[in-house]
Amino acid sequence: DLLVVGSANADLVIGVERRPGAGETVLGSDLAVHPGGKGANQAVAAARLGSRTALLARVGDDAYGRLLLDSQREAGVDTVGVLVGGAPTGVALITVDPSGDNSIVVSPGANGRLAPADVRAAACLFQAARVVSTQLEIPLDSVVEVVRGLTPDSRFVLNPSPPQPLPPEVLAACDPLIVNEHEAKVILGDACVSERPEDWASLLLAKGPRSVVVTLGAEGALVADADGVARVSSVKVDAVDTTGAGDAFTAALAFRLGAGASLAEAAAYAARVGAAAVTKQGAQESFPTAEEVDAL
Ligand code: ADP
Repeated sequence: DLLVVGSANADLVIGVERRPGAGETVLGSDLAVHPGGKGANQAVAAARLGSRTALLARVGDDAYGRLLLDSQREAGVDTVGVLVGGAPTGVALITVDPSGDNSIVVSPGANGRLAPADVRAAACLFQAARVVSTQLEIPLDSVVEVVRGLTPDSRFVLNPSPPQPLPPEVLAACDPLIVNEHEAKVILGDACVSERPEDWASLLLAKGPRSVVVTLGAEGALVADADGVARVSSVKVDAVDTTGAGDAFTAALAFRLGAGASLAEAAAYAARVGAAAVTKQGAQESFPTAEEVDAL
């Protein structure tokens, strides 16, 4: 089984001709509300591929919390670990201009209240999990607690997004650490002495993770472990919207690792899932089923 520990947000999206300046009001399109947040996205992406998946997250006791619970259940995710209350559901306020550029304000809300004690209280979910997947839209203390809650035969997958420097204890547990270009540069910090993705993979590996995956958008990805660095080819598709591609990639990788695939095999599958996700608008709406991945 896969356990995703992470965020759940309502994405509130309005199209605008141009963004308002300070003190200004502009009129926009009708409001669109979508379930989002990296944890919720990963859980839905994995479940849609056929993974038995549970989500440990926190939402508010409000309409957006119910929307998020509904979308998880509809995808087949086990929501017994979704805690309710403590703060309003996390929200992302998104304006999109005609060129497709986003401006986003995030209110973490209940995600910021997913506490280390909540992680400890979910020990039974950890017992059932072969792979535990986390991101950084919840408190770092809680991510540390996730690492401490791993059973000896479970595997930890981390996508450090939004990126911040990571404690050695967390880095050492990652198998793999999954980063895009921006995340690689932030995690490496001063150690980022090269512009070559192959070098980022090796430099990141030297920081302690058991393995590293660097995603490269349309270029595919790189995998790195004790055996060296290898390239994972991409699939040529007509990209419509890349939102959620990284979440779909991470979810698919975690799912295949849990099923016993090697890192290279799991990353090759994940690249196909990521490619399928960019062919449709939206995040959760764009995630493919296993049949759709096979058809690609
Ligand atoms: P993030 O969304 O986190 O920035 P990437 O953009 O690297 O991550 O995308 C994650 C994965 O999704 C890539 O490694 C690739 O496999 C797939 N992907 C993303 N964009 C494309 C694209 N334009 N064509 C094909 N595959 C893509």
